[in-house]
Amino acid sequence: MNSKEILIQVAAEAAICTKCNLHFSRKKAVPGEGPADAEIMFIGEGPGFHENEQGRPFVGPAGKFLDDLLAGIGMKREQVFIGNVVKCRPPSNRDPLPEEVDACSDYLDRQIAAINPKVIVTLGRFSMAKFLPNAKISEIHGQSFNVKGRLVVPMFHPAAALHQPSLKNTVVDDFSHLPALISQASAVRSKELEEEKNVEPKQEPKQLSLF
Ligand code: URA
Ligand code: SF4
Repeated sequence: MNSKEILIQVAAEAAICTKCNLHFSRKKAVPGEGPADAEIMFIGEGPGFHENEQGRPFVGPAGKFLDDLLAGIGMKREQVFIGNVVKCRPPSNRDPLPEEVDACSDYLDRQIAAINPKVIVTLGRFSMAKFLPNAKISEIHGQSFNVKGRLVVPMFHPAAALHQPSLKNTVVDDFSHLPALISQASAVRSKELEEEKNVEPKQEPKQLSLF
């Protein structure tokens, strides 16, 4: 399967998934959306009211803010992949439980493997915890971390910034560094690809003639 087919397969599985109790409150699963070869992947928490109605990520007020943040750095949502840690809406938008995050993690892992983004931006503490367990968002937001060869940049959740206006400028400022981080990650990856190309293919050991 190519990466696009994997994303379609994951979406089809999530739509009818019953691996955790969140399927009881699901109207539409929200697998995430964006190009299968996106360079940058945003990972939020889970669907809210509007996302559950439409089956699309970040389409409510937090999504509008995310669109504005992307526009601020000259990007459109169509260029990036936007997903979530859990694909079904927690009742009354409560926090997802650890067992729900665990149950859903296989879908997110398959999406990350298929897309192979250069940069992952985590939005909020649940997606941050997947890559940087025990980290504190207030201490490390906006910084980049190399996690298993990929750049991970934790950011505050856009909804948190909407509820706490003092965070808004912080999020805008953290976003302003993303283009440079993407270029940096692109340079690292091109170098790796170049190095792979230059490695001589392993020669079959020559059979020694006995005669
Ligand atoms: N908040 C999230 O974490 N994800 C969405 O898709 C929408 C709001
Ligand atoms: Fe399945 Fe994830 Fe939905 Fe739980 S949240 S039912 S694991 S798709």
